[in-house]
Amino acid sequence: MNKKQKKMLKRILLAAGMLIVCNIIPVTGALRLALFLAIYLVIGYDILRKAGLGIRNRQVFDENFLMAIATVGAFALAIYDRSGDYNEAIAVMLFYQIGEWFQSYAVGKSRRNISALMDIRPDYANIEKDGSLEQVDPDEVAVGSTIVVQPGEKVPIDGVILEGASSLNTSALTGESLPRDVGAGDEIISGCINMTGLIKVRTTKEFGESTVSKILELVENSSSRKSRSEAFISKFARIYTPAVCYGALALAVLPPLCHLALLGAAPQWHVWIYRALTFLVISCPCALVISIPLSFFAGIGGASREGILIKGSNYLETMAQTRCVVFDKTGTLTQGVFEVSGVHHSEMEDQKLIEYAALVECASSHPISKSLQRAYGRPMDRSRVTDIQELGGCGVMAKVDGVEVAAGNGRLMERLNIPYQECRSVGTIVHMAVGGAYAGHIVISDVVKPKAKEAIAALKKAGVEKTVMLTGDIKKVADQVAASLGIDEVKSDLLPADKVACLETLLQNKADRAKVAFVGDGINDAPVLSLADIGIAMGAMGSDAAIEAADVVLMDDNPMQIVKAIRISRKCIGIVYQNIIFALVIKFACLGLGAVGIANMWFAIFADVGVMVLAVLNAIRALKAD
Ligand code: ADP
Ligand code: MG
Repeated sequence: MNKKQKKMLKRILLAAGMLIVCNIIPVTGALRLALFLAIYLVIGYDILRKAGLGIRNRQVFDENFLMAIATVGAFALAIYDRSGDYNEAIAVMLFYQIGEWFQSYAVGKSRRNISALMDIRPDYANIEKDGSLEQVDPDEVAVGSTIVVQPGEKVPIDGVILEGASSLNTSALTGESLPRDVGAGDEIISGCINMTGLIKVRTTKEFGESTVSKILELVENSSSRKSRSEAFISKFARIYTPAVCYGALALAVLPPLCHLALLGAAPQWHVWIYRALTFLVISCPCALVISIPLSFFAGIGGASREGILIKGSNYLETMAQTRCVVFDKTGTLTQGVFEVSGVHHSEMEDQKLIEYAALVECASSHPISKSLQRAYGRPMDRSRVTDIQELGGCGVMAKVDGVEVAAGNGRLMERLNIPYQECRSVGTIVHMAVGGAYAGHIVISDVVKPKAKEAIAALKKAGVEKTVMLTGDIKKVADQVAASLGIDEVKSDLLPADKVACLETLLQNKADRAKVAFVGDGINDAPVLSLADIGIAMGAMGSDAAIEAADVVLMDDNPMQIVKAIRISRKCIGIVYQNIIFALVIKFACLGLGAVGIANMWFAIFADVGVMVLAVLNAIRALKAD
């Protein structure tokens, strides 16, 4: 509870206590009025003030206005009737305030929950100076500096380990609870917690560009992208509130006037005014206005705890309607960690060819390139490589020691007009050309991710009708992977632009409400990520392009996370619809009862606060993933 909530709670208790005491002691007349008026002001002064401010700012119709009119009216009626029963006006205000308090408590609680979940912001970085450690602001650390991360500390900035080994707890980022073992040469991202050993890290990014900053920025901005349901609710409230105010006015005035005109007798003004006031209390739209954004907020928060970052509630809504999931192959369904399984038709030594391959690939972030660099396994002198050119979906070209070298698939060789040898083994083939002549090929093979098959089956169960795989790799490999995973449709030999075209066809041939999701690793598939109804980037540990282009970012590269993301979105949208329907049904039923005089004001306030509390409790369910 924060200070404001504590103060509010005290006010509620004070007013309730006073109300009980004043009902026990026998006071009458002006003293009684003064006492009850005092209680009314204790509990309701802020609402009256807000209603006044609203009128002054010409934004009259809000729930403060509704409550102020209704309670002041009830008070006035009690004075007019000389009944001395002021309890009703006060009780309405009291329950309304209890509802408001509960709601602010619930919102505060889920907000705190989320920031605790996202407690990844590092406070400092350690820099070694003259043999001792100095703590500095992570913002001030330049790229390429060496920082020291001790056991128990957060990694403040992305970088590469220079020395030391440790295991990292990445659970705050990925939802994955198994620690990750790292050693010298490994890339690490900020936001992880160093658990066991001291490590020295050379930073590769500024703090503002590091994973941790990107994620926090993303989570903080996610509430600004409104979903259609939220837009519906605010539009609804804009029309609804004035409508019920005029409705109440009509209810107070028209029936008595009709009575007068038809029967010529004196009308029962106070009966109809009372009904109109009751109608106003009932009509307060709090439950809807509060619970819808809260549900989305809780859904996004619950997802981020699982390592699923959703950039806005609109995406949550779209994701819940996913009927077709399109996958990239390398790094998404397969591990993207290739092993060299053969070197064929090479005139030079195998190791020499691999050295050329590693050098020409030294600047690429493609999984193939990383794997070739790993296969070479020795430190490289990058200054030997110049004029690097990467052709998405084909390969790379560069000058190594001044000699033209190209590494890539058959398409690249055709483009360079270099005749090449087809390969009979199943695997991804990296053809090499050195000095303009064919120099043989390296066969590398990848394995599917352990959970990929399970994820495809689970997607089917979760209501996804079609799964498609798009890949730039050759047909032989693509068909084998698709068959082993149970994917419905596969397209191979695609350039990045062909992937865009394939996705466009899929988008055209689907029903309007069935959405298409694309899942990729962000490496040369950013255009498809942004074209799809919902772009899901996977294994974002480090890839900026993916974080930028995607609508949903999965921190972990386990394909089961896709299923989880869709499940969370479905659950959250389910809760939103439950709340909308529940609140509207109760509301209209009460309005009807109020208009014909069956419901009194007590009933009205219980209905309103009751609906709100239930809707908020329901909304909070969205915080839990399953
Ligand atoms: P995927 O669709 O499987 O993610 P890409 O579109 O990234 O594949 O690449 C398609 C093909 O292009 C690869 O299978 C490979 O043959 C070739 N290729 C792409 N980038 C490189 C690279 N850096 N080095 C060698 N070959 C590459
Ligand atoms: Mg790819």
